[in-house]
Amino acid sequence: MSENYIVSARKYRPASFSTVVGQKALTHTLKTAIKNEQLAHAYLFCGPRGVGKTTCARIFAKAINCEHLTPDGEPCNECESCQAFNEQRSYNILELDAASNNSVEDIRNLTDQVLVPPQIGRYRVFIIDEVHMLSQAAFNAFLKTLEEPPHYAIFILATTEKQKIIPTILSRCQIYDFARITVPDIVEQLQYICRDKGVTAESAALNVIAQKADGAMRDALSIFDQVLASSDGNITYQNAIDNLNVLDHDYYFRLDEAFLTGNVPQALLIYKEIRDKGFDSLFFVNGLAQHLRDLMVAATPQTVHLLETSNDIAQQYVQQAAKFNMHFFYMAMDLCNTCDLQYRETSNKQFTVELTLIKLCQLMSGKPLQQPAQPRVQKVTAPAAPAQPAPQPAAKPAPQPVTQQAPTPQPVAQPAPQQAAQPAPQPTPQPVAKPTPAPASTPRQAAATPRILINKQPQANQAAKATTEAQRSVRTTPFTPEQLAVAWQHYIDKHPGEMILLSAMRNSLPQKIDDNTYSIEVENKGQLETLSSNMTKLMQFLRDEVGNDMLALNIKLSEKGVSSMAKTDREIVEDMRNRNPQFAQMIHDFKLSMY
Ligand SMILES: [Zn+2]
Repeated sequence: MSENYIVSARKYRPASFSTVVGQKALTHTLKTAIKNEQLAHAYLFCGPRGVGKTTCARIFAKAINCEHLTPDGEPCNECESCQAFNEQRSYNILELDAASNNSVEDIRNLTDQVLVPPQIGRYRVFIIDEVHMLSQAAFNAFLKTLEEPPHYAIFILATTEKQKIIPTILSRCQIYDFARITVPDIVEQLQYICRDKGVTAESAALNVIAQKADGAMRDALSIFDQVLASSDGNITYQNAIDNLNVLDHDYYFRLDEAFLTGNVPQALLIYKEIRDKGFDSLFFVNGLAQHLRDLMVAATPQTVHLLETSNDIAQQYVQQAAKFNMHFFYMAMDLCNTCDLQYRETSNKQFTVELTLIKLCQLMSGKPLQQPAQPRVQKVTAPAAPAQPAPQPAAKPAPQPVTQQAPTPQPVAQPAPQQAAQPAPQPTPQPVAKPTPAPASTPRQAAATPRILINKQPQANQAAKATTEAQRSVRTTPFTPEQLAVAWQHYIDKHPGEMILLSAMRNSLPQKIDDNTYSIEVENKGQLETLSSNMTKLMQFLRDEVGNDMLALNIKLSEKGVSSMAKTDREIVEDMRNRNPQFAQMIHDFKLSMY
């Protein structure tokens, strides 16, 4: 690689819109405008640094002067004009960097230039980079030109700080917002460059580079050059993290194992290793927080796309995430956040971090491994009494329309026995974990997730109210579905005022899932919400009635409820029409067009 070394940022600067990375929608719009010759006199390109604003401005200038524009709206890169552009000798493009040339004089020079028509080609394009840096006087001087430009002049203003652009300028420009470039897009481009340069790279390495670049292609390319320079033609993950002072994510994955098994010594030793490597503790804590956040979004199919990594690493996260429950993620992120806040204040920083790790190790103990449940189920499930066997979303193939299961619903209960085996017997006080001394009994109990959201406050209140006797010992009287139905009816009878709640309750009787777990189905979101907000009270009542604190209730939105939520207007009208002949007749008689 010793032959003419050109930095990648220059060598791989896109020459046409199609090779601009990560701005598909925007470049498409530009091409369409060029194709249809619908050009404005002024454009404002906004967005973070290194995302392609100036590059797009240059391609734009080249394209509108191209003699053989492609049908797609791209410059041909072959005609005399294009070549002049590519060789940077075209007089039809003029760039001013307002960051260093922001005086009235600089703008005067520019506006003088604007008066000169193009010698070859049709347009002269004036690019003002970092336009927000122009002084007030310079802005004013420029405004006149912007208001009445000659027909051949086109201005492209670029800025990283749109909010600093005065309204008089904004209102005269067509505005294009450039997005940060995503990690996968950057990785893809780096892969292309590797192929082009004939070097190899582990995708994890490119991922590290892309993340470090924080959305800027230009930065990604210079980081890439830096790593490549020390890599001998094969960029490994190890290369990348050594070079960029990034903490190997393997440390975090190993910590996960410690958290899973409650292995405090292991967690503390890993932390020491990290310090020995010279990494700052706060850096580590923030990295851990990010890692936990990534695991959390990887845990749910709906959010997995929020993971900004390449596919194979995402896969790793998805697999790892499946070992935890949502409760863990919430609590763990909170602990990291607290640690971050306390870190600056505390006199013993290492102790603060270690204490956090110890707490993290306790979050999963006493609970079976559990697939993360879905938000909706979480919200609606009964708050835990001291020992409530939590609902088990995956236990039955019962219709669970709303709740998308994680990829594999089954493994839920499997790992439980070994996991629950150790901490379950003693109701150890757990500083961090919620006040749920696990009852020795059920290995399948506690699908931990669902309780999290609600268990804390309400429970404290109940505890105060309920007789201490009842709270202390867990009631486990066996009961029949009929007894529960009676209790259900009692609740309805005793609370005549609560209309919505009662209508939800009347329409659905709890269906048995197993001895202590029941499910009910509600018809619409309103009922779902009412029922879930009354859950604490209702469960307390039912448990008292049947004398069993293990009773748990799953609430589900019925198929019908789900589909009605998802219905389009058209479908709703269709529905009404089918159900109501008069409505159909009316549509017909009045020749109404419903869609
Ligand atoms: Zn051309």
